[in-house]
Amino acid sequence: MSAAFALNKGPEASQQDFLLSVEDLTVSFDGFKAVDSLSFYVEENEIRVIIGPNGAGKTTVLDLICGRTQSTKGSIKFRGKELTALKEHQIVHSGVGRKFQNPSIYEDLTVFENLELSFPRGRNVVGALLFKRDHEVISRVEEVAEMIFLKDLLQTEAAILSHGQKQWLEIGMLLIQSPELLMLDEPVAGMSVSERIKTAELLNKIIKDHSVIVIEHDMKFVKDIAHRVTVLHQGKVLSEGSMEHVQNDPKVVEVYLGH
Ligand code: ADP
Ligand code: MG
Repeated sequence: MSAAFALNKGPEASQQDFLLSVEDLTVSFDGFKAVDSLSFYVEENEIRVIIGPNGAGKTTVLDLICGRTQSTKGSIKFRGKELTALKEHQIVHSGVGRKFQNPSIYEDLTVFENLELSFPRGRNVVGALLFKRDHEVISRVEEVAEMIFLKDLLQTEAAILSHGQKQWLEIGMLLIQSPELLMLDEPVAGMSVSERIKTAELLNKIIKDHSVIVIEHDMKFVKDIAHRVTVLHQGKVLSEGSMEHVQNDPKVVEVYLGH
């Protein structure tokens, strides 16, 4: 299913053509470089998958992009805007949404209420006071619920959803904010096979209007979604390219896929 993806736009292409440009990014924890002079570039409407052994620095890369962790060195440009100087909420406001490994939904609220709460207008105090369940909100909630396979469960309490449905709800809570870039850390961990297939479907649908960075271990899932794959090892890019390219790269087989 992975689309042919043209990264090489020719000599006239500049950094401005990339949605996200990460360059020479480094973070040092007490002298240990979890991310070490890392550079990679993500295009619009691309699904980039980051793979690599445990401890490679994958989650830390997302922490750096979303401003949760401060970089020691390097640059992260999103639509040409430097993110390393911004606070977490400013980065969210710039259009970067992040989903963490464990779902953080409101268990005692319904699917509808969880999505409604994430709708941008409800977010600040003034917005919350003026907030009404008007037509715009309801239709947007329904639209997102349909995308995440929960349209028939809008009035269901989130607590009784399956693990996979909770993961979808959290993706929906990001989608409803219409970020340009979504970052997902191991979204299919703990999902059933059919849930994994539907999640691949969901991601392939949403890249029509978004770009996505996904960290994942399930190679079948990676194959179903990745336009390009970046293999991280010891905080650096070990290999990068199509799924076929990285799968056949002896370095990748040695440190990751061979295990
Ligand atoms: P991955 O997601 O690829 O499994 P991580 O990004 O979680 O790897 O971690 C990369 C390395 O950085 C690990 O050795 C981890 O222990 C270390 N690390 C991550 N965050 C911190 C932190 N806040 N302080 C110290 N070490 C950290
Ligand atoms: Mg991780």
